[in-house]
Amino acid sequence: MRRWNGWGDSNNHYPLKPSGLAFIQARLGRAEPLPDAEMAAVIAQVPASRLPEHPGVKTDAETRLRHARGQSLPDWLAMRSGEFERFPDGVASPSSSEEVRALLDWALAQGITVIPYGGGTSVAGHINPPEGDAPVLTLSLAAMDQLMDLDTQSQIATFGAGTPGPKVEQQLRERGYMLGHFPQSWELSTIGGWVASRSSGQQSMRYGRIEQMFAGGRVETPKGTLTIPTIPASSAGPDLREIILGSEGRMGVITEVKVRVTPLPETETFQVAFAPDWDTGKELVRQMTQAKIPLSMLRLSNA
Ligand SMILES: Cc1cc2nc3c(=O)[nH]c(=O)nc-3n(C[C@H](O)[C@H](O)[C@H](O)COP(=O)(O)OP(=O)(O)OC[C@H]3O[C@@H](n4cnc5c(N)ncnc54)[C@H](O)[C@@H]3O)c2cc1C
Repeated sequence: MRRWNGWGDSNNHYPLKPSGLAFIQARLGRAEPLPDAEMAAVIAQVPASRLPEHPGVKTDAETRLRHARGQSLPDWLAMRSGEFERFPDGVASPSSSEEVRALLDWALAQGITVIPYGGGTSVAGHINPPEGDAPVLTLSLAAMDQLMDLDTQSQIATFGAGTPGPKVEQQLRERGYMLGHFPQSWELSTIGGWVASRSSGQQSMRYGRIEQMFAGGRVETPKGTLTIPTIPASSAGPDLREIILGSEGRMGVITEVKVRVTPLPETETFQVAFAPDWDTGKELVRQMTQAKIPLSMLRLSNA
């Protein structure tokens, strides 16, 4: 099960190695780790929900706790210490665009603040409930996690916006295609979240950034449904996709994402080379980039 106060699955453990501990102690000195808050104690802090009853909205304390924070350092400090500050008043997990539409209409009529929630890996604080008198509904896209269509002629795939990275690649690879968008949060982040946060992947050099992959889709806005067709490049008018890319949920809830996909490569290899010093390394990277060598990733690291 997903960890409630940190990253990843609670069955995976990565204990700090003695050499790592010695390295940190040599630089920062000795310190006593603060105790982690117990989940039961935090659950006891969750206040009563301010939402009117709705059959599609969960208001139990644990569900609200699990959707209260992202994954930034301040979020981690809050979660590990048990000082969450605020919780959403309820969490809905609709399974279709129509259900999202109905929930949005209900929330708007009741003066409820809505936060779209993909994988909850935000490091910008945008999924954390804001302060204020309005009740907060977190709208999770988790149940919309399927490949809905694959047009092999145009090489455009349509996904439910809540599809997480591993499910995007798995469903495409079964059909001989791949997307190739690998932010470091890939394991938990979702395709709708990538569009909403204009995310950047490790292999963007070959497969493109999310703004090059995002071909269109469906957004449920407060004013109605916005369908963005997958028109080829146009020289007339503004590009509506740009309004949605990086909008962080402010323009509405993205429910379907159409992306440009690529046939699987015959082989893919990753190589490591050692440069004698930093300046040579920088020059090598510059030359390889400017020569447009078809690499998917190029990364220069110091010692
Ligand atoms: C360990 C770690 C590594 C990371 N690595 C990278 C990286 O390499 N590159 C990178 O760019 N970012 C990275 N991030 C940041 C984050 O993972 C990305 O911004 C990611 O795209 C968020 O996706 P998500 O599905 O988790 O969205 P969430 O965190 O759930 O939401 C992010 C924002 O998008 C909105 N949103 C989410 N889904 C929708 C939707 N369907 N419709 C409308 N709005 C929506 C939310 O309201 C919020 O404002 C990293 C974060 C962590 C914790």
